Amino acid sequence: MQIIQYAEEHRIFREAVRRFFEKEVTPHVDEWEEAGIVPRSMWKKMGDQGFLCMDVPEEYGGLGADFLYSVILTEELARTNHTGLAAPLHSNIVVPYISSFASEDLKKKYLPGCVSGETITAIAMTEPNTGSDLAAIRTTAVDEGDEVIINGQKTFISNGLNCDLLVLAAKDPAVENPYQGIDLYLVEAGTSGFEKGKKIKKVGWHSQDTAELFFSDCRIPKTNRLGRKGDGFMMLMEKLQQERLMCCIIAVAAAEYMLEITIRYCKERTAFGRPISKFQNSQFRIVEMSTEVKLGRTFVDKLIMDHMEGAKVVVEVSMAKYWTTEMAMRVADGCVQLHGGYGYCEEYPIARAWRDMRVLSIFAGTNEIMKGIAAKFMGL
Ligand SMILES: Cc1cc2nc3c(=O)[nH]c(=O)nc-3n(C[C@H](O)[C@H](O)[C@H](O)COP(=O)(O)OP(=O)(O)OC[C@H]3O[C@@H](n4cnc5c(N)ncnc54)[C@H](O)[C@@H]3O)c2cc1C
Repeated sequence: MQIIQYAEEHRIFREAVRRFFEKEVTPHVDEWEEAGIVPRSMWKKMGDQGFLCMDVPEEYGGLGADFLYSVILTEELARTNHTGLAAPLHSNIVVPYISSFASEDLKKKYLPGCVSGETITAIAMTEPNTGSDLAAIRTTAVDEGDEVIINGQKTFISNGLNCDLLVLAAKDPAVENPYQGIDLYLVEAGTSGFEKGKKIKKVGWHSQDTAELFFSDCRIPKTNRLGRKGDGFMMLMEKLQQERLMCCIIAVAAAEYMLEITIRYCKERTAFGRPISKFQNSQFRIVEMSTEVKLGRTFVDKLIMDHMEGAKVVVEVSMAKYWTTEMAMRVADGCVQLHGGYGYCEEYPIARAWRDMRVLSIFAGTNEIMKGIAAKFMGL
C-alpha cells in the first residue's frame, strides 16, 4: 500500500517536471558546477513553468497547490544530481516566512516576484561565531524612527550571491533574553550597507553559490520586520519542521537515485567473466542498501502526510533528519565502493552524489542538534 495517495494530476505533474529537468537542467549541470553558480535565467524558466512557490495563494501569483507538488519537484530535482538550483530552499523554506508572517503590503510587494523567479531568496541565520546556537547570533537590528539599522555578518548562506531578497535573523541588543530578542527582517539586495562577500569554496555542492554576507549600518524600513517584534525565534522554530522535512525528502530521493544508477552499473560492469551484480557481496550490499532506502521512504512519506495534516511532528522529523541523512551518506559510500575506481572519477555521477551527500548531516540543524531536540522532547 502506498502511504501517499498521489492523484492523477500529481502524476502528470511529475512527468512534466521530469521532462523539463531532462531538457533544461541535466544537460547544463556540469557547466554550472564549473561556474559555481546557476544562471538567474534558469530561475526565471522555473517560474515561467509555474515550478516555484507553488503553494503561494493565487492572489499573489501562485497556484495554491498542495505540499505534494513541492515533494514531487524536490524528488525530481534530486535526480538531476546537483544542488545549485535550490528551488526547494526558495519555495519551501524561505518564502513560507513571507507567506506566513509578512504584512499584506510585503506579501503583495514580494510574493509575485518569488513565484515568477524574478526574485530569488535566501535565509541568513548562521554567523561565523555561531551556527547551532542560534540564540547566540551577534548581528544587531536597532530601531531608529521608521527604520531599522543592521550591523553584522552572516556566513554559509545558500543562494547568497544570486539572492535578491533575504530573510535575515538579527537581534535587538537592548533585549536581554536571547530568545525574545531575535527578529526576522526582509532585506533587499542592493540596499546600501548590505554587501555580498565571497563565494565559499566547498568540498561539494559546487553549483550552489553559498556566500558570506555583510551588514554595515544597513538601513531598512521598520515595516520589513516579519510578525511581531520579539517573535523571530518562535517563527524560526515553527518553520524548521518543514525545513528539516525537506532535507529528509532530498536524502531519501537522492539515495533512491544513487541506488538506481549503481544497480544499473553493477549489471553492466563485468569482472571475472560475469556482471558485478552476480557476486554475492554486491547482491548483499544492494539488498542492505535497498532495505535502508525503503525504511527511509516509509518513514518520510508518513511524515509528509502528518505534516500536511498540520500535526506537530518535531521529534519524528528530528529523528528522520538525522537518520535519513546518515542513511544517504552510507548509501553514497556503498555505491561508490560498488563502482570501484570509476566511483572516484568525476565522469561518473556517483562521485558527485557522494560528495554532495556529506553536508546533509550538517545543515538545517546538525544531526547532533536533531538528537538533542528529540531527547529533550522525550523528557530525557
Ligand atoms: C553548504 C551549506 C549551506 C548552508 N546554508 C545555510 C543557509 O542558507 N542559511 C544559514 O543560515 N545557514 C546555512 N548553513 C549553515 C549551517 O546551518 C551550519 O553550518 C550548521 O547549523 C552548523 O553550525 P556551525 O557550522 O556553526 O557548527 P557548530 O555549531 O560550531 O557545530 C560544530 C560541531 O559541534 C556540534 N555541536 C554544537 N552544539 C552542540 C550541542 N549542543 N550538542 C552536541 N553537539 C553540538 C555540532 O553538531 C557540530 O558537530 C549552511 C552550511 C553549509 C555547509
